[in-house]
Amino acid sequence: SDDLVRAVHRFMQYSDAARRMNVRANADNAEDAARARRMGAQGVGLCRTEHMFLGDRRQLVERLILADTDKEREESLAALLPLQRDDFIGIFEAMDGLPVTVRLLDPPLHEFLPDITELSVRVAVAESRGEKHENDLRLLQAVHRLHEQNPMLGLRGVRLGLVVPGLFTMQVRAIAQAAAERLRAGGRPCPEIMIPLVGTVQELEIIREESLRVLREVGEEYGVTLNYPVGTMIELPRAALTAGQIAENAEFFSFGTNDLTQTVWGFSRDDVEASFFSAYLEKGVFGVSPFESLDVDGVGRLIRIAVEEGRRARPGIKLGVCGEHGGDPASVHFFHEAGLDYVSCSPFRVPVARLESGRAAARG
Ligand code: PEP
Ligand code: MG
Repeated sequence: SDDLVRAVHRFMQYSDAARRMNVRANADNAEDAARARRMGAQGVGLCRTEHMFLGDRRQLVERLILADTDKEREESLAALLPLQRDDFIGIFEAMDGLPVTVRLLDPPLHEFLPDITELSVRVAVAESRGEKHENDLRLLQAVHRLHEQNPMLGLRGVRLGLVVPGLFTMQVRAIAQAAAERLRAGGRPCPEIMIPLVGTVQELEIIREESLRVLREVGEEYGVTLNYPVGTMIELPRAALTAGQIAENAEFFSFGTNDLTQTVWGFSRDDVEASFFSAYLEKGVFGVSPFESLDVDGVGRLIRIAVEEGRRARPGIKLGVCGEHGGDPASVHFFHEAGLDYVSCSPFRVPVARLESGRAAARG
């Protein structure tokens, strides 16, 4: 079996030597990042920060949602800052010397808010027992206020960053502090700051300027230079169509093909597989779900437009993909052909992405 392992290794080396695209992995914590690296990932193409607000940090998030005053909000953010910083330190350490694209918070709000039924029951029970429940009641009112009919089209990504003061700057500060700490320890952190769900260049401009200001401030505090790229996801049709304008304010694009597929088709990512996709597959509307294998004619066309416009506006702009399609063989061939610089996928799909991008390059 040693012979077999050596043969596979040699085969991967040939493939790696042939390929033009880099292969990165999507990883949200230090363990996944380390695993991705062992699989041959050349960086983290998507570090989702949503999970960093869940689990035992929910209480802090609830306080943030409930904050009535600037002071209360700032206190909640200040409590989250060191936790986020430590998360990033771990990931930068695991990926030392390799790029780590950190995406600022992009929760569909419903996954992030306390459960409305649970909360209602808690309030009702407390009421029937004549117990104090003022906080739960306020929380329930806030959750009602924030409730959306279509959360996936709602207060997500950059929109949340623009609506909740200090949220994105806290995250950028955590990234900057983590990088500064790593530099002090002799490390080579390479963070890239990525802004999700951008539809217009103005959204990007505001957040980008704030981000660059925070990088400068933290750099001065630590006496180091924190000169890191700020870029955007392209995951809305409007972003793809106005990629030329957007590129003037973005050092890189990462195509979010999950949301791009959802918005190009008008399919709900969360629902379609269960509701009507089986009938569609059966009737031959498509042979494979467009969430699994990239829809080259529709979504792919938008990607080509964005690649062309982006490169025209900013020659040398770095272009990648971080949706699930980044690890799908047929889609990888498309991304190679469209001229992307890298694909990013789940750690366990990294070997497949390496092989397929090697094959795509060998094919010419
Ligand atoms: C995407 O939309 O393709 C993406 C990578 O982001 P998420 O899946 O987190 O929305
Ligand atoms: Mg997305």
